[in-house]
Amino acid sequence: MVHNPEQLMEFLFHLRAKGITDTRVLTAMERIDRGAFVDGLFADRAYEDVPLPIASGQTISQPSVVGLMTQSLNVQPRDKVLEVGTGSGYQAAILSQLARRVYTIDRHRTLTRTAQARIEAQGITNVTVMTGDGSFGLPDQAPFDRILVTAAAEDPPGPLLEQLRPGGIMVVPVGQSDTVQSLIKVTSGPEGFDYEELRSVRFVPLVEGRAAD
Ligand code: SAH
Repeated sequence: MVHNPEQLMEFLFHLRAKGITDTRVLTAMERIDRGAFVDGLFADRAYEDVPLPIASGQTISQPSVVGLMTQSLNVQPRDKVLEVGTGSGYQAAILSQLARRVYTIDRHRTLTRTAQARIEAQGITNVTVMTGDGSFGLPDQAPFDRILVTAAAEDPPGPLLEQLRPGGIMVVPVGQSDTVQSLIKVTSGPEGFDYEELRSVRFVPLVEGRAAD
């Protein structure tokens, strides 16, 4: 489905105004139709800069936040990327345009099943969707060049830090659930981890264990 060109121009203009200036990120967001990742009921609001409800009581993040997180991750074409919190699959689809390979994991099977179908429907072939508790990462696929967590953790999860390649970058919202959290960029350097606070955000919490659905 191709979106209305005028709406798309406005969307990209808004993203630029929000500080998303990386051309590769903007091109990815131009190519991937957010409307294809939300339920029909919300498809006509897909180009508004708001989070929208998806199944299992979760949300697809606000486009400007997706853009900012993706830009902060500074993904390179040869990178292997892990996303924790597949949700709708939209963020994974954006990452697929920038990286060599994307692994994405969610604790809700209902969500991963739909996300996988939507990603496939877009003709994307470099994304692997998994179901499970992503706070332990994917040890079999580690290390990762980039890790993006799209649910709020109380602290950057230790297993994820361990699975970050030296020189790698992780972006993660940190804070208590239901309060304002900080988006943190963690860089793995020769002398340990460097932490940079990017902005305040509000995400659903990172929850332990696999969900019943
Ligand atoms: N990135 C998504 C939005 C994420 S919403 C998108 O583009 O649509 C946050 C997601 O994190 C929810 O789907 C929730 O189920 C998931 N989540 C929460 N805790 C988790 C955990 N421990 N492991 C994996 N996924 C988790």
